[in-house]
Amino acid sequence: MNTSTSGAQLIDGVALSQKLRTDVTARAQALKARGITPGLAVILVGDNPASQVYVRNKVKGCQDCGFHSVLEKYDASMTESELLARIEALNHDPAIHGILVQLPVPKHINAAKVIEAISPAKDVDGFHVASAGALMTGMPGFWPCTPYGCMKMLESIGYDLRGKHAVVIGRSNIVGKPMALMLLEKNATVTLCHSATHNLKAMTLQADVIVAAVGKRNVLTADMVKPGAVVLDVGMNRNDEGKLCGDVDFEGVRQVASAITPVPGGVGPMTITMLLVNTLEAAERAAP
Ligand code: NAP
Repeated sequence: MNTSTSGAQLIDGVALSQKLRTDVTARAQALKARGITPGLAVILVGDNPASQVYVRNKVKGCQDCGFHSVLEKYDASMTESELLARIEALNHDPAIHGILVQLPVPKHINAAKVIEAISPAKDVDGFHVASAGALMTGMPGFWPCTPYGCMKMLESIGYDLRGKHAVVIGRSNIVGKPMALMLLEKNATVTLCHSATHNLKAMTLQADVIVAAVGKRNVLTADMVKPGAVVLDVGMNRNDEGKLCGDVDFEGVRQVASAITPVPGGVGPMTITMLLVNTLEAAERAAP
């Protein structure tokens, strides 16, 4: 799953995902033998084209692993109370172990209210405040899928974070902040950077591990990376040719880093894989 390139070792998210999904499928089969099929409900409100692709891939991931999956699509005119009522019904549905509301929701719906309506026991996206609190305090809960996938990628190359300096660029609730907490939990010393950070380069040059989660091309270039650092690129952007690219200048940084994730084929596939892992774990926890 880790391929050498002319410079850095390539951390292949597609190969690692396949390996993890094989394990998920086997565990799902074992649960099925006990009469429980892991079930995920995905709710999409409106017709955002990117969201349509994401939910399709999530449902396909479930099918491939032998899960029960339900895709509920609603018109953008759905009211907030209608959506909350649907979530409440799914909270009580024993065939459903994970509930995911694809974001963004239309503007007239309060996304925070929607996330808080999901039972923490079924919060497989890990966005609920109870999940965030569990991560912060080291209690059992669901970890947000994207940073969780990044941790699995580091694990896949046998990287020991203890005492290492990790620099995370971006502080969103779904990527940057939980990423920093996960790295901290593995005993890294963590610096969390954002748009008001002075001299980002001075921070990244000290890093043994860099996670870029900004959403802007070339936020991280080769001159900002200490030789031998490990670089994880969460960003999803389009280049001038319209092709998917990350936040990292891949061609430049791979010459300096010791390991790097590509875009596409890096963190992206891992996000859905960790959603499947969380859904399976929700079903295992709910099993008698
Ligand atoms: P977000 O909510 O927009 O957060 C972006 C963060 O970047 C913010 O904390 C912002 O700082 C910071 N930032 C902006 N410009 C910066 C700069 N010049 N220097 C340093 N920090 C800067 O985005 P997100 O949801 O975390 O997503 C980040 C990227 O990851 C996007 O490209 C998104 O598409 C991608 N993503 C990928 C996956 C995947 O599966 N691969 C999953 C989720 C997200 P402030 O807080 O100060 O504004």
